[in-house]
Amino acid sequence: MNTIRHLTILGSTGSIGESTLDVVHRHPDRFKILALTANTNVQKMLSQCSQFKPQFAVMLDSVSAQQLEESIKQAGLDTVVLSGVESLEKVASLSEVDIVMAAIVGAAGIRPTFAAAQTGKLVLLANKETLVMAGRIFMDAVKKHHAVLLPIDSEHNAIHQSLPYNFNGNLMEKGIRRILLTASGGPFRKTSQDSLRHVTPEQACAHPNWDMGRKISVDSATMMNKGLEVIEAHWLFNAPPENIQVVIHPQSVIHSMVEYVDGSVLAQLGNPDMRTPIAHAMGYPERIESGVASLNMFDVAHLDFEPPDFERFPCLRLAYHALEMGDNMPAVLNAANEVAVASFLDEKMPFTAIPTVIEYVMQNVKQQEIHTLNDVLSVDHIARETARNWLAALK
Ligand code: NAD
Ligand code: MG
Repeated sequence: MNTIRHLTILGSTGSIGESTLDVVHRHPDRFKILALTANTNVQKMLSQCSQFKPQFAVMLDSVSAQQLEESIKQAGLDTVVLSGVESLEKVASLSEVDIVMAAIVGAAGIRPTFAAAQTGKLVLLANKETLVMAGRIFMDAVKKHHAVLLPIDSEHNAIHQSLPYNFNGNLMEKGIRRILLTASGGPFRKTSQDSLRHVTPEQACAHPNWDMGRKISVDSATMMNKGLEVIEAHWLFNAPPENIQVVIHPQSVIHSMVEYVDGSVLAQLGNPDMRTPIAHAMGYPERIESGVASLNMFDVAHLDFEPPDFERFPCLRLAYHALEMGDNMPAVLNAANEVAVASFLDEKMPFTAIPTVIEYVMQNVKQQEIHTLNDVLSVDHIARETARNWLAALK
């Protein structure tokens, strides 16, 4: 007999949120949904509430919350509807909640993800932006409040699976030489610089191997996603940037590797389906069914590897640079990237301007230490303003 564990899913209507619900519905004896949250997608939230009957549903947006409340009443459900970021924090920290899936996209996820860590939850972290913006203080909060942090990002989940059980954050002591962070290279791995200028949001969002939200899809196309993941790996595994090697692996079958001092390289493989890392983290340390098909090695046939191209993908170089600079710089990088990606998706600027905006913002926001979550939020605000000023000058 399993004890039922109660879950809050932050960002349940997104790609990770839906994959998480798919795993939950396979294990009604293990998991119960206590709260679901979303930004504005009332229809999808209503259908999730009908299926999973959570106690709370939070819409960030108050108009969407009102609409949802009416529909919930009409449907005869007794889910309590709340709105606003304080409610996101509330449902991430309720005493009845055991597990919080942090799957809001972008900096918007940081406050509820912190709330989960500060109340000692099992935090399943998809929202890599929290670690990029506030790595040290987030890891400190996890430790201080006895939260448990498990990575959902497929690469970091693969690294976690390839590290020794109960890894203590000391690479040297455990005989670990390097982390090999794999990357598909995205849809433009072979596109010429010239044609990159003209790519559309639709082309950028058409990832060859993964089906994801639009922001992370663009990040994959610029390879900023891999840059954010280098920073994420640095904080999760206490790895210096020089021990994190990005490896382009177009098939996305090896999700990442760990190399040991004896020359062994341990890898985790599987079909590119986020339900594997999600089920791994939800069941941990047990293994549970995820619904993912067996990996057919004969269909895969080849595994290719290439070094990353920092010229074609300046965002990757900028992310390493921000990590080496430290302090507020990764938060500055993240904020500038979010503004730039949103502007590209709105067709207000070309794809190739994304790294230009980020570099400009990194050069124009002062490097400063950060000590608190409020420091991070204020850096985020300043960097966004600086990025918007650059964009305004475009007109
Ligand atoms: P998505 O765009 O599909 O979903 C985002 C979710 O967050 C939605 O439920 C949306 O309603 C909610 N949301 C958006 N803006 C919000 C706001 N301002 N306030 C509150 N809620 C808001 O994104 P996704 O692809 O599921 O990615 C979610 C996170 O997981 C990102 O940080 C991403 O980097 C990370 N991640 C995703 C994948 C993937 O395969 N999709 C893989 C690894 C990591
Ligand atoms: Mg990833």
